[in-house]
Amino acid sequence: MKSLYSFNFISRLIFLLLTPVLFQLVGIGFIWHSIYWGVITAVVIIWGIFILISPLFGRIGCGWFCFMGTASDFASQHSIIKMKWKKPKIWVRFLIIVPFFTTAILFYFLNKEQNLTHNFEINLLYLKPNFDFHYQKVWMIDIGAALIFGLLLERRWVCKNLCFMGALCAAGANYSRLIPVIDKDKCTRCGKCEKDCLVRLPMLDYIENNKGLVTNSECILCGKCIDVCKFNAIKLKFVWNRKKYFRNH
Ligand code: SF4
Ligand code: SF4
Ligand code: SF4
Repeated sequence: MKSLYSFNFISRLIFLLLTPVLFQLVGIGFIWHSIYWGVITAVVIIWGIFILISPLFGRIGCGWFCFMGTASDFASQHSIIKMKWKKPKIWVRFLIIVPFFTTAILFYFLNKEQNLTHNFEINLLYLKPNFDFHYQKVWMIDIGAALIFGLLLERRWVCKNLCFMGALCAAGANYSRLIPVIDKDKCTRCGKCEKDCLVRLPMLDYIENNKGLVTNSECILCGKCIDVCKFNAIKLKFVWNRKKYFRNH
């Protein structure tokens, strides 16, 4: 039977290749421009849903669909630089989120004064003429940046420090019910899951100090740790009540 990680890999590959095709065929508008023009596009709805479900399904959008995350994973898995995972800094995230939204909202009001906005009507495939070319460039720049950062910095550095969407999903993922759970009795502390984790999360710490619950908002639910554990000690499970889980284990 195919492992969860195989499905994850296929999903990420499809979306990596599909994104520029979508830009070319239908010209889907990204979030900043959606606010800028006052339109609710497909990307806004899809990522809005990922943010809303993050308290239940964590960073599933980041781990299964995002082309930038996939590119940076590819680079970091082939990088010779191995860096330890560091906790994200909340103030860095605010530095990204605040200018992102304030500039988009500012331009929205400037456009509104000139009657260029659309009162946030739903138009899934909206794009201003000639912007498909702009987005192809954005796609290439994003991929290039993700590859370079993936090669030179700690795993998923971009996701942790530069992406406003990641910051919003992480806020919800703090409460995620879907979590990798490590069976302490089966685990031999070999460290393979920590070494191969796409984010390089400190799995051994979670085994020793958190009853095996990987309650980290940076986990992207990719399933790689499950795949590499030879002792079948990790499972992705719904843990509805963490306090109860800690009491009972
Ligand atoms: S944090 Fe941003 S760049 Fe990283 S996977 Fe999520 S949406 Fe993509
Ligand atoms: S790979 Fe499996 S056995 Fe090794 S540390 Fe991780 S959970 Fe434990
Ligand atoms: S802990 Fe497991 S599921 Fe989460 S990011 Fe790491 S490898 Fe993927």
